[in-house]
Amino acid sequence: MIDAPSAPRRAAIIAVGSELLTPFRTDTNSLFVTSTLNDLGIEVVAKLIVGDRRDELSSAIAECLRRADLLVLTGGLGPTDDDVTRQAAADALGLALREDPTIVERIRARFARRGVEMPAVNRVQALVLETASVLPNANGTAPGQWIERGDKRVLLLPGPPREMQPMLEAVLGERLAPLAAGARIYRRVLRIAGRAESEVEQVAQPVYASWAAWTPPVSTSILAAPGQIELHFSVGAPSEEEGRATLDRATAEMLAVLGADVFSTDGSALEEVVGRQLRERCWRIATAESCTGGLLASRLTDVAGSSDYVDRGVVCYSNRSKTDLLGVPEAAIREHGAVSEAVGLAMAAGMRDLAGVEVAVGITGIAGPGGGTAQKPVGTVVVAVAFPGGERVRRFLFLGGRAQVKLQAAQAALNMVRLALDEFLPTAGA
Ligand code: AMP
Ligand code: MG
Repeated sequence: MIDAPSAPRRAAIIAVGSELLTPFRTDTNSLFVTSTLNDLGIEVVAKLIVGDRRDELSSAIAECLRRADLLVLTGGLGPTDDDVTRQAAADALGLALREDPTIVERIRARFARRGVEMPAVNRVQALVLETASVLPNANGTAPGQWIERGDKRVLLLPGPPREMQPMLEAVLGERLAPLAAGARIYRRVLRIAGRAESEVEQVAQPVYASWAAWTPPVSTSILAAPGQIELHFSVGAPSEEEGRATLDRATAEMLAVLGADVFSTDGSALEEVVGRQLRERCWRIATAESCTGGLLASRLTDVAGSSDYVDRGVVCYSNRSKTDLLGVPEAAIREHGAVSEAVGLAMAAGMRDLAGVEVAVGITGIAGPGGGTAQKPVGTVVVAVAFPGGERVRRFLFLGGRAQVKLQAAQAALNMVRLALDEFLPTAGA
């Protein structure tokens, strides 16, 4: 009887490249590889970044093969001396390298199409590990390689994402998808605004802790970004239907405790959610921004089709511009200060009149690092919303540097618009 090959369950990834160990380049390939493997129900148990050194890399390969049954390497397949992935894999696996004449010809032809003779250094890209299958590269010269040794599999992929990604999808689709027997990992992301990570955790943890005992179990992780917390749910299920049903049940339990602070369960960004609200109501929005310098308008217009509901935005940084452009009374600035509820409301109301739109937002604050006082420390931001349901104003105190304060202020403003619109005129079907 012949044993059917079993699907790998545990994978490791090595991103190869000395540049990835500097502060100037980030390894993004491993994120794509992880997501593609997860879709096949394969868990990534470790990932490493290793520089272009043959000895370091061959030890890393040997180490990863002890921990995982599938090892994916990206990078180091170029033609230069610092491209050592082929040699390091040969060292670690105890396999010889041989030149594949068809690859030499393919590379030569690729250069010929551009009217160039193949440089001699490119020949090393035709070196193939014995027993390896060669994976064609439609977008570059370096072919990939797939090696099977006992129950271990090693995949060598080129570094440039546009070469690596289609090759990975093709090889996994051909060699691993048929072994995966339908079991896949399904995911859902809940996005939350207006609460700190610890607050979300305190409320969410007792709920998701019980999901570990479900069949199939749901695992949860919590991620924080400026002004936004994400809860990531994942479940390994034999069918899409079962995966979705389990995630729906988990989502419903979480919505019951987090309520309106959850702004999306389908991956939408906050500006998309607000865009849909405005579109549904046939309302338009205009923005008057001081400390965010146009970031709110930029976020709103990141959404395709936003010209349907974004009317205009102004950056009124100086006191004079607030008065000149929006009619904010000089007396209000003098009495309450530029960062005050009175001025925020006057900015929003002034903008609403000026633009003749349904919704206007005013943002005024102190992004720092200078300009703070005891009463109004750096990070104090006032957001006001004027809309058909009346006016809303809130004062926030954000932590972090200038950029962080701006990000959080724009996010808080979008969230205030979302909550105001939904409370006043609930979204149909929500
Ligand atoms: P290499 O195949 O090592 O010569 O890599 C060629 C190029 O691919 C590099 O200069 C990077 O721009 C890109 N690259 C390599 N590895 C990665 C990675 N892990 N993440 C993102 N880009 C990468
Ligand atoms: Mg490299």
